[in-house]
Amino acid sequence: MKILSVNAGSSSLKFTLFEMPEEKEIISGVFERIGEETSLYSIKMNGEKIKKDCVLKNHEEAVKILTEELINYNVIKNLHEIGGVGHRVVHGGDKYADSVIITEDVTNTIRNLFHLAPLHNPSNLMGIEAFQEFIPDAKEVAVFDTGFHQTMPKENYMYAAPYEWYEKYGVRRYAYHGISHQYITEYMQNYLGKKDVNLITCHLGGGCSMYSIKDGKCFDTSMSFSTNSGLIMGTRSGDIDAFIVPYVMKESGMTMEEVLDSLNKKGGLLGVSGISNDSRDIEEGVESGNERCILAQELFTNRIVGYIGKLAIFMDKIDAICFTGGIGENSSMTRKDIINKLSKLGIVLDEEANNTRGKFTLITKAESKIPCYIVPTNEELMIAKDTYNLVK
Ligand code: ADP
Repeated sequence: MKILSVNAGSSSLKFTLFEMPEEKEIISGVFERIGEETSLYSIKMNGEKIKKDCVLKNHEEAVKILTEELINYNVIKNLHEIGGVGHRVVHGGDKYADSVIITEDVTNTIRNLFHLAPLHNPSNLMGIEAFQEFIPDAKEVAVFDTGFHQTMPKENYMYAAPYEWYEKYGVRRYAYHGISHQYITEYMQNYLGKKDVNLITCHLGGGCSMYSIKDGKCFDTSMSFSTNSGLIMGTRSGDIDAFIVPYVMKESGMTMEEVLDSLNKKGGLLGVSGISNDSRDIEEGVESGNERCILAQELFTNRIVGYIGKLAIFMDKIDAICFTGGIGENSSMTRKDIINKLSKLGIVLDEEANNTRGKFTLITKAESKIPCYIVPTNEELMIAKDTYNLVK
């Protein structure tokens, strides 16, 4: 059965078509700059990549082109061959611990959670509606980024804020990137040959988050109420004192939206380095002695190490620390900086193994008290697996 895995952003739409249950990737691609004057899309198939310019007013137009191209490229003869479309949905509140077939009730819930994920849920819903229009016969499935953390115990998801904020307004820690952390957990369960794995998983990409996994289930995370919490990210500040917001509003004359926008888009590696949100540029800066890049890298890795300590102290045993995401899979420098700062825990880097990019690798020496691995993530496959299991 062919399953389409979809990740719709505000101006982009990523897709991958899988043959399931073989987990074979057939074709993938991304539509970018949707809604802008000129848009483009790229498609990858059989190791080849094509790029085309186009004009896309909205997500529906992207989905229309996608369905036409699937037929043009002889991937499918007609749309009935697509048995299911799985959508990444960032926020499912505390209603959904597992993926669900999309019904009107589900779309209403996603809509009702716009205020908790204003940057993501509206785009995710646009993607869902676009596919409902163009592939109406395929069952659609919502795979929630907030699903995997639902096993967190209450003492790990509550804030010490007035209790009625939780009861009336849903103020609690939610955590994101769950699809990636779940994929890494399942990968390690297969690798270690047991379900009850104990892990610390570090997803370091444009967005960054860490989870502790106890007996195969999410126990705690670095993420919190919003997607700008916990670790330092490409452009996001991660944790800061809430009282900085009104203080900067008063001092600068900026509105609350402007201050929050700055924390989301002008903070993180970009804000500290003043150069870039891309860790490759930060690495170059570090190598050439740029002080702000050195500081950015130091803050970035210190925050990660701090969270490893915070998560580790509540675990009885750790089978592995796993690195994933664009930075986690590719940046030897970042992994080295982190692991060297963990030497007090008896973790010993294998420098040669750490010079690997993008493939499953043990990067610590045999004597290391905790083994560390690069584990490439595959959120698209995780979405396709959940979708297949629900529609088959
Ligand atoms: P997103 O969270 O947006 O999906 P990714 O997981 O693709 O992002 O990660 C993007 C980040 O990965 C980039 O900002 C870049 O900093 C980092 N990255 C990608 N390739 C490399 C590399 N070869 N070396 C260091 N960092 C890399």
